[in-house]
Amino acid sequence: MLKIIAIILLAISTAGAGYFGWTQKKSNDAVTEKVAELTQKVEEADKKVEATEEDLAASKELLPPLMTKAQELEAVKAAFSSGTVLKDLEAVYSKEKKGLSPERQLGLAGVRLLTNGTKDPATVEAFQKALEMTDWKSQQKVICAAQNALAAAGEKVKVMSECMTDASAGKSAAKNDAADTNKADAKETAGKDAHGKGDKKDAKKDTHAVHWDYEGEMGPENWGKEFATCGRGKSQAPLNIKGPFEKVRFSVAPDYKQGPLKILNNGHTIQVNVAIGSKIRIDGKPYDLLQFHFHRPSEEHIDGKPSAMVVHFVHKNAEGELAVLGVMLREGNENPGIKTLWTYAPKNESAEVMPEGVMFNPANLLPREMDFFHYDGSLTTPPCTEKVKFFILKTQVNISKEQVTDFPFKMNARPIQAANGRPIYTN
Ligand SMILES: [Zn+2]
Repeated sequence: MLKIIAIILLAISTAGAGYFGWTQKKSNDAVTEKVAELTQKVEEADKKVEATEEDLAASKELLPPLMTKAQELEAVKAAFSSGTVLKDLEAVYSKEKKGLSPERQLGLAGVRLLTNGTKDPATVEAFQKALEMTDWKSQQKVICAAQNALAAAGEKVKVMSECMTDASAGKSAAKNDAADTNKADAKETAGKDAHGKGDKKDAKKDTHAVHWDYEGEMGPENWGKEFATCGRGKSQAPLNIKGPFEKVRFSVAPDYKQGPLKILNNGHTIQVNVAIGSKIRIDGKPYDLLQFHFHRPSEEHIDGKPSAMVVHFVHKNAEGELAVLGVMLREGNENPGIKTLWTYAPKNESAEVMPEGVMFNPANLLPREMDFFHYDGSLTTPPCTEKVKFFILKTQVNISKEQVTDFPFKMNARPIQAANGRPIYTN
């Protein structure tokens, strides 16, 4: 049962929307401790199989501290027995005209599960279904670890196909985690061998659950086989930006702060994780900057042409909505900001490094002018989750030819996607 609470905890964290704000935040120390302890265990298991894919890293940063969530969960649990919480939540959600987002459905299913308990198979099934519907693959490792642990403990739980291990039944959680890791290793190694690369990589760290790449068998044209949205999505990114444009009246205003440099090579790009505090205002609404990363050449094209590279600044607001600010980098003078980053960027896939005493301000990579092109798109890497707002700045920033060549990825740009009638806006 504790494990199932962990799943729900994580699901609720994923849902992100602070819809527990209206519940009283009381804490029951003993149970809170248990939940926290369990959460830590799941987190530790998760760490073993942690992939550092772009989206995963992004979403990790989005998760509010789990301890706080554990306390909130306690308050929620206390109120559950009567069923009023569920009724209230259903009432709130029934007013949503556009229908519930998959994350909210998952949150709702989680609350149903907490209210009705695990005895009712229909409730458990509904929760599983909601879980499968969400596109939060970034949570996959944790959810898989929890599902496998539940199955191993004899709980009635459907293990998602993505979570299937060769030894799904009858083993301890720890063993399943190990199996997960081994399988991922094997799959990754095989995939890399097929592409004739991956030689320099440490197999132990190379643990993407599902392998994808920018070329070959798991190249962009085949992402849809493993990640449905990449293939079937109707508002995928990147786009070729060309007129006619529709006019919008709002502006985007970044307020980025200096902080200790945290940089990694996740096997797909160089990424810089950003501490809480840097924001951007879009039409007055604040979004937190989570991380930024690079593509070579730029994924977006302007009038059919890419630039040498692009920086994607990834933001998320309180409602969990993502916004990406893209700054195109064209060949020219050396870029001092990039110089600092490239000095510390790991050449091969690695965990985050935090060089001592090195500070960086993401604002160093921005032009002065913030005029933009805007469209609704998606993550440009699997799972290609949609409803991501893109703002591509019209003003480009210089990067030297040597700096472009020093970027450890020769090609990490997803091809241009069909616009499907989506308008492109400009301010
Ligand atoms: Zn990107």
